[in-house]
Amino acid sequence: MRSTLLLNTVNSWQKKLFYWHRRSRLLLPGSCLICLQPLMAERDLCLACIKQLPANSHCCQFCASTLPAEHQPPICRPCFKSPAAFDKVLAAWLYKPPYSQLVWEFKYTQNLAAGYLLLDLLFDALKNNSKTYDYLVVIPGQKKRIKERGYHAPSWLAKRLALLTGIPFQKNGLKRIKDITSQQDLDRKNRWLNPQGAFQASEAMAGKHLLLLDDVITTGASVHWAAHELKQKGATSVDVIAAAKTAI
Ligand SMILES: [Zn+2]
Ligand SMILES: [Zn+2]
Repeated sequence: MRSTLLLNTVNSWQKKLFYWHRRSRLLLPGSCLICLQPLMAERDLCLACIKQLPANSHCCQFCASTLPAEHQPPICRPCFKSPAAFDKVLAAWLYKPPYSQLVWEFKYTQNLAAGYLLLDLLFDALKNNSKTYDYLVVIPGQKKRIKERGYHAPSWLAKRLALLTGIPFQKNGLKRIKDITSQQDLDRKNRWLNPQGAFQASEAMAGKHLLLLDDVITTGASVHWAAHELKQKGATSVDVIAAAKTAI
């Protein structure tokens, strides 16, 4: 009882601090993260650069893979033939320069200004989505890589997205039980199969509507096998949200 009270107090202070951190950006001068122009705005991105962000507007309604503008219905061939385990992917932006540079700096060099911008863009994507979720979970990182980079980018985003949206972040919703070999040297089929069996879901996921967060989605294999495991444990639905989708 006492620990619940303490936890609620900590959460409430975290929310207040987070709110004031966001407000402070309206009062302190900053610069656009892409063109470096000075600006005073809640976001570190000028209007001209916002307009040039690579929108993933013509994409598959399930996996968010890019489709030709004339492709109807908006469903890619793989999803048509054999749907993935997740219900849908929300990935509003493509992993293309200069946006990809920001994602890369956040992920590999802890550029937190870029992180806050990605957080705002994820929040925008959720505002346009009417579905409600019980829990937010992340694709767990590999211990060795977290140690090298000093942190786990998807967890950093998830903690703050939980404060913005009120969707509770379940840190242990998914655990990694197997490190996988680098996807880069594998062919298409083995890239898809490589993350199979890498995750273990918590029993607490049963009967829940989940939002699964990852930073960048490339083949979609990791989110597919993670969603597969969550559904094996009884999750009712698994939608995926990502800061960027590679155009493959
Ligand atoms: Zn700019
Ligand atoms: Zn698809």
